[in-house]
Amino acid sequence: MIQQDFHYFVLIIPACLLLLGIAFVIGRLMLRDQVFLSWIAAGYILSALALAAQSLMNNQQLAHWSVVAASIYLFSIWAVAHGLALRKGGTAHPKMALLISAITLSLLFYYSQVVDNLWLRIIIANSGLGLIQLLVARLFLTSVATKDVLDKTLSISYLVIIVYTLARPAVIAIGVSPADLGELTQSNYWLLMLSASLLLSLWLALLVIAITVRDIMHKMNDERYRDSLTHLLNRRGFFEAAKDFMGSDATSRYFLLTCDIDHFKNVNDNWGHLAGDKVLQAVSKAIIKNVRKGDLVARFGGEEFVIFLRSIDINDARKIAERIREEIENTTYSAIPICITASFGLVDIVPNQDLVSAIDRADALLYNAKQNGRNQVCWH
Ligand code: GH3
Ligand code: MG
Ligand code: MG
Repeated sequence: MIQQDFHYFVLIIPACLLLLGIAFVIGRLMLRDQVFLSWIAAGYILSALALAAQSLMNNQQLAHWSVVAASIYLFSIWAVAHGLALRKGGTAHPKMALLISAITLSLLFYYSQVVDNLWLRIIIANSGLGLIQLLVARLFLTSVATKDVLDKTLSISYLVIIVYTLARPAVIAIGVSPADLGELTQSNYWLLMLSASLLLSLWLALLVIAITVRDIMHKMNDERYRDSLTHLLNRRGFFEAAKDFMGSDATSRYFLLTCDIDHFKNVNDNWGHLAGDKVLQAVSKAIIKNVRKGDLVARFGGEEFVIFLRSIDINDARKIAERIREEIENTTYSAIPICITASFGLVDIVPNQDLVSAIDRADALLYNAKQNGRNQVCWH
């Protein structure tokens, strides 16, 4: 039994949950596109309020308010599950959750208003909560194998929370007899349940905050280093990545391929800028499809691309360049009724030579390709 003097101390737990919920609200206000944070915030805040109210109730009041309290818990746990699922591009199956909630609440109504059985109510409410969490279990099971450490930890943690919620009613059914419960909110069971819930909620909140910060950093890096139209590296991203490449493996041979779409201005002039953008995206895909993992592809503005090929000889580099040229020529572009071609300049990168002068050399060859009639690769 908790001593009466310490009774209000249990409010510290809902207070912590409330503060975490407020932290999520602030996060959501700052990050307008992170909708999932709203659901998690709602889950934390509502469950904190219900927990605070219940912690101050006696068994009679608990029976009176049991359906209302359970509705809030069921919604809260669903909101957190839904928020986490949304971040993964999934959903927490609202219709199924409604069905589970309706059954749980009907049983709770019966065992509070018709027959008063606190022990059964605890088992029913916890089973309902566990089943709702189970709705998203598959989503987290599939991402346990991911290489991303934070995502993996979040998935495993949430699965542990699901197991904990599902095991709770079983543990009570086996280990606690109805007579042992006494005044519920002053019992050891209540304190233990609150402490475990707080620890798990804190851990989950910490992971969600860490993942959100990480996602934002990725997004900022993406905006800094990638071209928004094609999602290829931009000039800055290309130089950074190429520098890392060459720094990490000084013995390999590298080739540099520059590519410029032929008569691209005609596309814009005849079919509009939007059609031009679609062609740029399709050409980007054609290039990506024909390079190998580890090669770098960048859009250097306009209709010019730079491709960094590593660890191959000139014949392989020429083959890749020819493959890209043919792919661009043979692609059907839905936005325009004509065939698109591109011209290329290919050079090897001499050890210790800076990339800018290699690009200049490749551009000079590309100019030759244009002069010689376009749709061809010129190499050194
Ligand atoms: P050439 O065969 O000699 O390369 O001729 P070109 O018409 O391809 O070359 P030019 O440099 O004359 O024209 C490039 C055009 O690319 C001009 C510009 O309007 C267009 N352009 C540049 N950036 C974008 C873009 O982001 N989207 C679209 N749709 N067009 C762009
Ligand atoms: Mg150009
Ligand atoms: Mg051009």
